[in-house]
Amino acid sequence: MTLKLGIIGYGGMGGWHRKNAARVDGVEVVAAYDIDPARVEAAKETGLKGYYTLDSFLADPEINIVLVATPNHVHKELAIAAANAGKNVIVEKPVAISIREVDEIIEAAEKNKVLFTVHQNRRWDKDYCIMRKAVESGMLGDVYNIESRVHGSGGKIYGWRAVKEYGGGMLLDWGVHLLDQILYMYPENKVVSIYAQLFSVLNPGVDDYFKILMKLDNGVSVQVEVGTFCLRSLPRWYVGGNAGTLTIENFEGKGGITRVKKLMEEVEPEMVETAAGPTRTFAPQPVEVREEIGLPEANPDWTDFYRNVLNTIEGKEELIVKPSEVRRVFSVMEAAFKSNELGRSLDVNL
Ligand code: NAD
Repeated sequence: MTLKLGIIGYGGMGGWHRKNAARVDGVEVVAAYDIDPARVEAAKETGLKGYYTLDSFLADPEINIVLVATPNHVHKELAIAAANAGKNVIVEKPVAISIREVDEIIEAAEKNKVLFTVHQNRRWDKDYCIMRKAVESGMLGDVYNIESRVHGSGGKIYGWRAVKEYGGGMLLDWGVHLLDQILYMYPENKVVSIYAQLFSVLNPGVDDYFKILMKLDNGVSVQVEVGTFCLRSLPRWYVGGNAGTLTIENFEGKGGITRVKKLMEEVEPEMVETAAGPTRTFAPQPVEVREEIGLPEANPDWTDFYRNVLNTIEGKEELIVKPSEVRRVFSVMEAAFKSNELGRSLDVNL
């Protein structure tokens, strides 16, 4: 079978899928619909069939799968319309703007017996896959702390992303990726507490900086932080275990792991003087004790996303981005919004 993809919303991401999905064997991009006629024209210039109305687009029998790549506030109605037209549906992240909307999409997909998934493409990020491999292989010992950060410096958020009613703000935009990465890593562990703080530093009306602190039932502490105006960046990942510490600087996966050859109690204790007092606990570690090791290799291939959708429809594979996982991420995001609103930590079981 061939996936015959029709794109709703031929903007930045619609154009990206037009180019990149078409590279995958078994995927053909055939059509696009946009409320902006200029964008329909742009799609037609690349050889796609262009539609100016949703009804005519959904009536095209060649399209067997629809990608929704519009601003977030209309994902739900478009995804449901596509499912009701009997099309399989991929929705861009964030799938919707509330858990109620997520449930409505899942229900429509189930009712119409069509596939529904979400483009959580950052499950294939190199930095994430390296970090996950280091944690899962035990290179760091028992991990107790994972910090996941994205720091930008531009400050300004553009277009609909800067408007709350359109599903703007960084928690919905990037929080959904970073939370999905963590929850995908721990499918069996519950989030038991969550504390979130959201700020509008330079973009009134939407969050442009947020910090979420969560505890999992296996004891792991997770911090997720996104900032658009951080002029000095911290590493993309900072992970601590009882045998080592990992940092990964960037999306390319540059970084390293430091471990110790001997525990500190086996080393002659040293005292350092700081201007206002002495410390032994925070004395620099002797160099002979430290062991620098490389990060594990990971070469994820994003095109697996589309291959998996195709293989799932053909009954050959299990879906990678499952509706239940998408729903879980949303329930954690809703708890984060609530925690911020109440100004306190919440006990949860998510
Ligand atoms: P964009 O503004 O560049 O494009 C959106 C397009 O949708 C525009 O052409 C607009 O005319 C059209 N549109 C708006 N309302 C519509 C409607 N009701 N029906 C049909 N078309 C409509 O936005 P973008 O940056 O491409 O973002 C689109 C989606 O993709 C968002 O959900 C965003 O979060 C997601 N996204 C995902 C990634 C990723 O890495 N997965 C990256 C960027 C954006």
